[in-house]
Amino acid sequence: MSTITGFACNNPKEDLRPFSYEAKPLAAHEVALQITHCSICHSDIHLIDNDWQVSRYPFIPGHEIVGTITALGDDVKHLQVDQRVGIGWQRSSCHRCDQCVARNEHFCMRQQATCVGNHGGFADGIAAIDSAFAIPIPDYISSAHAAPLLCGGITVFSPLKVHGVTTGTKVGVVGIGGLGHLALQFATAMGAEVTALSGTASKATEAASFGASHFIDLNDATAMRKATSSLDVILYTASGAVALSKMLALLRPHGKVCVISGSTDLMQATPNEFLMGEKSVVGSMIGPPARIAEMLEFAARHNVLPQIESMPLAQVNDALAKVRNNQARYRMVLEVSGKAT
Ligand SMILES: [Zn+2]
Ligand SMILES: [Zn+2]
Repeated sequence: MSTITGFACNNPKEDLRPFSYEAKPLAAHEVALQITHCSICHSDIHLIDNDWQVSRYPFIPGHEIVGTITALGDDVKHLQVDQRVGIGWQRSSCHRCDQCVARNEHFCMRQQATCVGNHGGFADGIAAIDSAFAIPIPDYISSAHAAPLLCGGITVFSPLKVHGVTTGTKVGVVGIGGLGHLALQFATAMGAEVTALSGTASKATEAASFGASHFIDLNDATAMRKATSSLDVILYTASGAVALSKMLALLRPHGKVCVISGSTDLMQATPNEFLMGEKSVVGSMIGPPARIAEMLEFAARHNVLPQIESMPLAQVNDALAKVRNNQARYRMVLEVSGKAT
């Protein structure tokens, strides 16, 4: 395939329009894909709107991509044509710096993002993908369910692993949305005792269906007081602001609040709220390719599945509107080929 056809954004906040471009020839370490599915991450909305001042137009968004390999560069020996693979936020790294050598490729300063300065996955294909970032999908996961795991899934799985969540760890998940509903499932599957925290009390039943043992309404002062010093790790996934001091109060000694959402009003707390109990606030963003592969295997083994709603790629603007209006339950998946896999 040399011509790739998809939907591009021409100006900030505008609807996407049909768009074609010529794919670059493959370098020796690269692969090209025919895309079957691409789900919508909140970061796609930020890029369309140029919220981070890094967007160059026109560009095709999309970085939760599943497809099959159509072509391999000469040096790619570990993948095959027709193999099913996924691509997440990152499409390449330098493979030479200290971070790459330590297998922390997601910290590489010379990495490229899948759809920043490049065309992404709301299209029938994608080329020039560093083969290290084309991750094989386990047979047991459908392509539609695999897509949201490639960014949303690793975003919650990685901090749970890095911060040692295991049997008996008391985990809190703030926000029950695209990230939160996966965090509840992963943490439960790791053996943690999981508490869902949300400002929407009606989400308690759904949270339980994703494995949460407890539910706390963030607006219920009595329930919040009762939960003081009860959690080891809190994953902050909410898009709305919840005061950091409220979350620190829920932590046990040496507990951590892990921020994986870019909420702005979050960071208000006094020194004593950290000092007492030696608590930490940490960040996390995606994960290296080996951990993405581990996450996919874990999801397949423990039946961790995103809750999805599918639409044809041609309805991309309707799907984006649902994400913008918080109507997605919980991840919108664009079907590119119409194949029901
Ligand atoms: Zn994303
Ligand atoms: Zn590097």
